Amino acid sequence: MTAPTPHDSAALFDRTPVHDRSPLEPLRESEAVRVRETLALLPPEAQTVLDVGCGQGKLLARIERPHVFGTDLGRVGLKHATRPVFRSSMLHLPLGDASIDVVLCAEVLEHLPPDLVGPACRELWRVARRSVLVTVPHRENLLEASHRCPDCGTVFHLHGHQQSFDATKLRGLFPAEAGVVERYAWKSRVYAESLLRLRTHRLGLWKYSPHTFCPRCGRSTFENHERRVLYRLVGGVNQLLHPRRTHDNWLLMRFDK
Ligand SMILES: [Zn+2]
Repeated sequence: MTAPTPHDSAALFDRTPVHDRSPLEPLRESEAVRVRETLALLPPEAQTVLDVGCGQGKLLARIERPHVFGTDLGRVGLKHATRPVFRSSMLHLPLGDASIDVVLCAEVLEHLPPDLVGPACRELWRVARRSVLVTVPHRENLLEASHRCPDCGTVFHLHGHQQSFDATKLRGLFPAEAGVVERYAWKSRVYAESLLRLRTHRLGLWKYSPHTFCPRCGRSTFENHERRVLYRLVGGVNQLLHPRRTHDNWLLMRFDK
């Protein structure tokens, strides 16, 4: 696919209502499963937990530990947080070395430009006393949740994802001596690459979100192609090819010092 234009995710979340809501709203089933599996990976003895890229604090609100706080670069989410939060870049956390038992970073790394992921993970590792716990979409095909701007032709991921991860890639971002716990959460359906290319680049039918904007020209309203018969038809063919949900949707990895 065409490489997506970099999307400033903090700006995306500040300009759309995605983070402008209570963290206590009920979670979608898939999200509830991911949150449950993430919380299960917190070491029992951890007293202090920092959630880096906490958004409005959906995960934060559900962590039951004595000292829980979060940080994010976006401003809108932070005002909804039910736990102590501060605004900062994850590249420069205003905290001492090994000052937090567990540093959590859930659904954040995929939003970073590729060259910033290494420095970001080094910063998470620096601040962690015991563990860094990371969750990311697992082997996401970025084309699946992308849209093409009708004004400028830019293909961009609706939620600002800029890269996808597997366990090997994530493992390589942390020191070789780290202990690793690897888990997966939720099963999704694979979308055949050939059908995806047919639907998008050939037929011009793209996934839709009301809460996004083109990172190049700023356009923010797009046609919902998901209502089109042809969009559904291609999806139906894919469902015949892949009747079962077999893809591990989220990768959760804990790196221990
Ligand atoms: Zn555009």
